[in-house]
Amino acid sequence: MREDWEVVIGLEIHVQLSTESKIFSGASTKFGASPNTQACAVDLGLPGVLPVVNEAVYPKAIAFGLGVGATIGERSCFDRKNYFYPDLPKGYQITQMDEPIVIGGQVEISLADGSTKTVRITRAHLEEDAGKSLHEDFHGMTGIDLNRAGTPLLEIVSEPEMSSATEAVSYAKTIHQLVTYLSVSDGNMSEGSLRCDANVSIRKKGDDKLGVRTETKNVNSFRFLKKAIEFEIERQIDILESGGRIAQETRLYDPDRDETRPMRSKETATDYRYFPEPDLLPVVINEAYINDIRKQMPELPAQKRVRFEEELGLTAEDANLIASDLGLATYFEICATTCSDPGMASNWVKGELLASVNRDDLLVANAPVTPIQLGTIILRIKDETISGKIAKTIFNALWQGEADSVDGYIEANGLKQVSDSSALEPIVDQIIQENPKQVEQYRAGKTKVLGFFVGQVMKQTGGKANPKQVNELVISRLS
Ligand code: ADP
Ligand code: MG
Repeated sequence: MREDWEVVIGLEIHVQLSTESKIFSGASTKFGASPNTQACAVDLGLPGVLPVVNEAVYPKAIAFGLGVGATIGERSCFDRKNYFYPDLPKGYQITQMDEPIVIGGQVEISLADGSTKTVRITRAHLEEDAGKSLHEDFHGMTGIDLNRAGTPLLEIVSEPEMSSATEAVSYAKTIHQLVTYLSVSDGNMSEGSLRCDANVSIRKKGDDKLGVRTETKNVNSFRFLKKAIEFEIERQIDILESGGRIAQETRLYDPDRDETRPMRSKETATDYRYFPEPDLLPVVINEAYINDIRKQMPELPAQKRVRFEEELGLTAEDANLIASDLGLATYFEICATTCSDPGMASNWVKGELLASVNRDDLLVANAPVTPIQLGTIILRIKDETISGKIAKTIFNALWQGEADSVDGYIEANGLKQVSDSSALEPIVDQIIQENPKQVEQYRAGKTKVLGFFVGQVMKQTGGKANPKQVNELVISRLS
């Protein structure tokens, strides 16, 4: 029975640190250059060169450690992990084995039912990325691009504590939020800035021994992570239910076929012949250095969520959505300050703004309507200069580049709300006269038709009438 099984997942997340140059050389880390134009002698593993550690990786790794409440390793040492692969010209990867920079820590992840769960982090260590094998453009051959070789990585290892694909995705998203908030990484998953290895095993419910796991490598989107894990769970259950055994192996996810495939049998630590990197000295990190970084820590996503809820009165759901992305949260805060109405700001941000950003595939930071402009639009609704409907017209005009000032656009297009009853009364009277059937209904107690009259007046005035006032006028005229 499928319900008899329990799923256990642990993730290793590789995060590219957003430094200008590589971890052991001065070559650029910029994404997208032509192959092998950003690989120097160190990255190519030429004989006679020596690595020099890039100090910029330490504040980033330490900020992450502080963000998850970890211990920062006092002595942080590099080791060699030996293996042979064409994208690794040195024949070894410089990484951290016994003395990583970040030890322990934990994050709170949110679950579908609104509750939260703590996932512990085992460690996070610094290492260099490998190059890339290119298969597509080379018939029967493989191209090697070493631009990525030596890009700094922080590998974040979780405890095996997640029990579904959804939980694993929630954990990965939490880590993504954290590293982008802290400017540890640009988090651009389509460029490979954050890649997940999913370790998945299953066991009979109630067993306390972990089952044999497989590790699905290099999954670079949340959607694929979910699918890869779901596929793997089903595959393992099928094997065990039919009396088979799971092979401990490394697998690859193929999005085109939506399946995982074996890549190689799992190496163990002894296969890698780890030993201390003789070309790099241990780095000792003192309290003062850590405290400096602690002082500069920005507000973290979890803290923002709580503040949005408790101080600005947003619902938990809205606070969660808006705090999930730093760009969105910043936009919202500027907008809310401009209009002094966090509730309205959040409605516009999650409604009109997000819809437009998604439709045009833009980053919030590049939205053509600035948060101050949106805040001003909201102000004009609040001081009854315009109706909500006209507000949307103005928002779209600004978005399309047809206007550059909210008040200027209102003025130039005569969009000021008509709140002058002497102007509205004749229109209300005319509409009452033209619709005797609805008048009868209203007088017979069907007060719902009120909306019909208000709607007609709004239509007649091109949305410029003050709806509140029209409402009052219609009621007084009908009774
Ligand atoms: P390795 O270094 O060989 O990859 P680790 O012991 O460091 O192995 O574990 C790597 C990841 O695998 C961790 O995230 C850990 O939580 C997870 N993991 C270990 N054992 C299991 C298991 N039986 N099922 C699921 N995940 C596991
Ligand atoms: Mg591993």
